[in-house]
Amino acid sequence: MTPPARDGPIPPGEWLGLLGGGQLGRMFCMAAQSLGYRVAVLDPGADSPAGSVADRHIHADYLAPAGLARLAALARAATTEFENVPAEALAFLGRSARVTPAAPSVAIAQDRIREKTFLRDHGFGVVPFAVLATEADAVRADAALLPGIVKSARMGYDGKGQIRVGRHADVAAAFAAMGRVPCVLERFVDLACEVSVIVARNASGETATWPVAENRHRNGILDVSIAPARVDARLAEEARTTATRVAAALDYRGVLCVEMFVTRQRELLVNELAPRPHNSGHYTIDACVTSQFEQQARVLAGLPMGDTRQHEPAVMVNLLGDVWFEDGAAAPREPDWLAVLKHPQAKLHLYGKAEARRGRKMGHVTCLAPSLDEALRVAAAIKRALGIPGADELA
Ligand code: ADP
Ligand code: MG
Repeated sequence: MTPPARDGPIPPGEWLGLLGGGQLGRMFCMAAQSLGYRVAVLDPGADSPAGSVADRHIHADYLAPAGLARLAALARAATTEFENVPAEALAFLGRSARVTPAAPSVAIAQDRIREKTFLRDHGFGVVPFAVLATEADAVRADAALLPGIVKSARMGYDGKGQIRVGRHADVAAAFAAMGRVPCVLERFVDLACEVSVIVARNASGETATWPVAENRHRNGILDVSIAPARVDARLAEEARTTATRVAAALDYRGVLCVEMFVTRQRELLVNELAPRPHNSGHYTIDACVTSQFEQQARVLAGLPMGDTRQHEPAVMVNLLGDVWFEDGAAAPREPDWLAVLKHPQAKLHLYGKAEARRGRKMGHVTCLAPSLDEALRVAAAIKRALGIPGADELA
């Protein structure tokens, strides 16, 4: 039995802890601080997006016992903003503090083999796959999974750690190119679109989902999220139900993103899980009664869950470091933010990262309007103004 002190509500005014210093952590800090909490961030970086807004930055490695002990001494509850936080760090904190999500959920989501096996074993639709643990697995790979994608089991994100394979011989070559680390081979699926659902689940097993987001990627990185997704009502309902069931199957506590594929045959397949708020849920900050970050703080603190209702259609455009570089320019320059802000429906969010690099997530803009078509038009205008490709595909 968990002692009541660890399970009851932690009222505003107290400290909450966070592992990780990136933009997701920054937005968590801001939401928690808005509710009146003080936030301590543990992150090894000297100058991080979350560390710079936190009430306290514990500058230490995730596995350094002294840093973890300082966090545990300050905060009765802690959460994480990235899935590759060592599960041992969560387990360490879990000995004295409430930790959401719990280490076992994170351990599943940070390993594609465990994640896909878990989902399949619990009856969720997934892309057909095989585990490549050894060279022999790669050599014997099932030809029915080709053409396919070899993905490293761990540490992959934004399309990194993936190699497309067409012919049988490519599988062993890809496995070798990955450094013979554990991988999965997935069949390449003809996608109608990609969607995601953010779901929050608390200690009593109550859940809340936000409207489905439709996600478009560019070079493996999320480019635009459109909410609500342009899928029929039955599919949207199925996506939300699936996310809720995944959270229940994991006995999850916290905010979880369930990324899904919609195939040309209108089949819904779960692609991957992120045990934290997600880029595709950033629209909830400006478009919903309660954002994914506020909900993360509420679940962590044991407060009642907030309403997830969406006020208005929203289109979120990611701002990558590329926006800082004019065509072919070697040195970055500050983008023309006035060209964004002249649209009164555009909400600009910048993460305060010191250095712009191509492909690095630097911020996002959420465009709100009474109709999705209008929000798409504003998003397209902003893309054009900032030189982000793909404006014409939006409106
Ligand atoms: P990550 O987001 O961790 O980089 P994903 O597995 O989500 O890895 O893959 C990134 C993107 O690659 C997906 O959003 C999708 O566009 C594409 N993709 C991944 N797996 C498949 C697949 N089996 N079939 C078709 N497209 C895929
Ligand atoms: Mg993904």
